[in-house]
Amino acid sequence: MGTASSFVTTAELDRGKTQPTARLLLRRARQRRQILAMIGGSYVIDGGILLLYAKAGAISAMIGPAYAACGLTFVIASILLSEIGFNERFRDHYLVAPQATVYMLIALVFAYVAPQVGGMFLCKLFIVFSFFPLRSTPSQTMLIWTAMTTGLAGLFLLTDKPVSMPYGSYLERFTTLLVFVLTIGRGMFLGIFSNSLQQSLYQSGLKLREAYKRIEELAELDELTGASNRRCIMRMLEEEIARTARTGSPCSIALIDLDWFKRINDAYGHPTGDEVLRAFAITMFANIRNVDRLGRYGGEEFLLILPDMDANSAVRALDRLRVIISDLDWSAFSSGMKVTISAGVATLNPNETSDVLLARADSALYSAKAQGRNRIISA
Ligand code: GH3
Ligand code: MG
Ligand code: MG
Repeated sequence: MGTASSFVTTAELDRGKTQPTARLLLRRARQRRQILAMIGGSYVIDGGILLLYAKAGAISAMIGPAYAACGLTFVIASILLSEIGFNERFRDHYLVAPQATVYMLIALVFAYVAPQVGGMFLCKLFIVFSFFPLRSTPSQTMLIWTAMTTGLAGLFLLTDKPVSMPYGSYLERFTTLLVFVLTIGRGMFLGIFSNSLQQSLYQSGLKLREAYKRIEELAELDELTGASNRRCIMRMLEEEIARTARTGSPCSIALIDLDWFKRINDAYGHPTGDEVLRAFAITMFANIRNVDRLGRYGGEEFLLILPDMDANSAVRALDRLRVIISDLDWSAFSSGMKVTISAGVATLNPNETSDVLLARADSALYSAKAQGRNRIISA
């Protein structure tokens, strides 16, 4: 998991929202191969158990190999169909219903042919039912259950086969023990398998949520400085103006511009210029209140929103920030470097729009520049 394509879910594919990517098809083919290989392995184990029963004299020696051959033939045919992409034509690419039906049929036929060990084949039904409901819809499961009930009813009511388990000799008792232990073991294995499936689904859900959160953050933050981006700070300004209109509390803003920034870029290089912008933003964040909002308004121009602050306090706050910035040891970036800021402060008048407020702050900033920079001017 991790790339966008792996977030394509089977449900989305089913709804026809998206085309399966080559990677997804490969992954599904691999999953089918794994499951079919496990089923094949299961038939080999059962063939071995039946050979033990044959050795104990309970059944013919042909039953084990015949049972394993039946199961394996079907499994191999399924793998071949899966590899040539046949399964992808169907909504349920595992072909759960036909698969389960054939495994049940094999189990019922062998319970009929070798009723002395019929209990073992019926155990197989438990395995079918502990696996297929994980991969099929409730209605498919009900359908398979109905087919199984019909088959079992035929076996028990229409024939008089003595379906049982051998327990005469020591070897027979040992083999019967093996049947139960391995049946329960396979059930346990499937439980663990489905649990890990659930875990990985849960994990990818968490990752998806984190990714969405990150996308939201990226949409709001300026990548270089970590300040709010222009869209976000403008929205915050509108919200603050609306709040001020409701509560009647004052609200000030400041447009802050770094002085002679072009010279900094020219003298120390653009990457150092970026570092200066970042250091400026970090210093600002460290020295404003929690309620204040800082956003990148343009290249090296920032908008600071100061809720509940009148004009005098705002000018004082900005002047304090100006001194902090100019007193920073910028020579740590490059020897001889000095960075100062100028700002235009404006306080919201009744019924004033954000455009008018920003225009007043901008002309105050212009005055600050014209009067020699490294200063704060109030509109
Ligand atoms: P003053 O504002 O004091 O009048 O002079 P100035 O040199 O800062 O003037 P101006 O606003 O014209 O120049 C701003 C410069 O900031 C131009 C641009 O190359 C630079 N700049 C804008 N965005 C970035 C950025 O993200 N990184 C770097 N390194 N430089 C930037
Ligand atoms: Mg500038
Ligand atoms: Mg500028």
